Amino acid sequence: MTDEIRFDGQVAIVTGAGGGLGRSHALELARRGAKVVVNDLGGARDGTGASSDAALKVVEEIRAAGGEAIANGANVTKRDEVEKMVADALNEWGRVDILINNAGILRDKTFAKMDMEDFELVLDVHVTGSANCAKAVWPVMREQNYGRILMTSSPSGLYGIFGQANYGAAKAALIGFMNALHLEGAKYNIHVNALAPTAATRMTEDLGIPDQVFEQMKPEAVTAGVIWLVSANGPSKAILSCAAGGFARAYMAETDGIYLPPGELSPEAVAEHWNAISDTSNINFYQDSNGPNMNFLGKIAAHQ
Ligand code: NAD
Repeated sequence: MTDEIRFDGQVAIVTGAGGGLGRSHALELARRGAKVVVNDLGGARDGTGASSDAALKVVEEIRAAGGEAIANGANVTKRDEVEKMVADALNEWGRVDILINNAGILRDKTFAKMDMEDFELVLDVHVTGSANCAKAVWPVMREQNYGRILMTSSPSGLYGIFGQANYGAAKAALIGFMNALHLEGAKYNIHVNALAPTAATRMTEDLGIPDQVFEQMKPEAVTAGVIWLVSANGPSKAILSCAAGGFARAYMAETDGIYLPPGELSPEAVAEHWNAISDTSNINFYQDSNGPNMNFLGKIAAHQ
């Protein structure tokens, strides 16, 4: 049996924690001993408006259960507000161990009908928002030689959802962001992971999911995976797919591929070998971008 995962003495920032998944993560972290900054701009699902009520309510819930929390209304897209949020956490508790980048909005439309303003705003909240928060805690975590950062990606970013060109692009960008931070954070004991959840929140309430299934898709089912990912013994560079008690790990993978020597190199040869290039019977899971280069160099060497 795994010992109970605890966060005593640790400080966590959860963005967009006024409702939905973020609220569930914040409550569970606090229940397990973490001091929590409950951040939320408090706007509508499409990012319009703002209110401090949502974050305050979650802070009250945490305090009522005997935990410690402070509310924060920073808009994650505003660097100065994010820097102040981290400064406030440091003033209050002196450290930041965990950052859960969870704040997000939706502006769904087919790409043909999508205004570029809606494209930019969605990228701004998910990508720049996550980067602003990571940037503000990065020196703190390096200095502490400890940090756990979670990006909230989505099945939309990994596999695509019709009508979510903006959201899918943003959520895929967070995987690239995770990959680089994982490499740069390794020697400072900073782990960086990503989540690809599906849960019953206001984001999914109009998808027509049957009530019985929607009931099982509670945010708490996703939070169980989150708690493991941000824990001291948790992994790094993992993408955890989860919904309704189901958990699977998603990977970026590449087929072993082929080598076309100079004399055979042509678009037609690529077309002719397409099945071999696409053959998934021999898959590589690379640790960094040197992987594919080393694979191809190996193939060239074997050919000579
Ligand atoms: P939600 O709308 O309840 O939560 C998002 C929260 O982020 C809201 O409370 C909102 O006020 C806050 N927020 C939005 N913009 C902000 C900003 N600029 N600054 C600070 N806070 C801001 O929806 P949710 O489903 O709980 O979503 C949480 C995260 O999970 C999002 O990143 C979402 O994209 C992601 N996600 C959710 C699902 C799902 O099935 N619910 C699936 C995949 C990914």
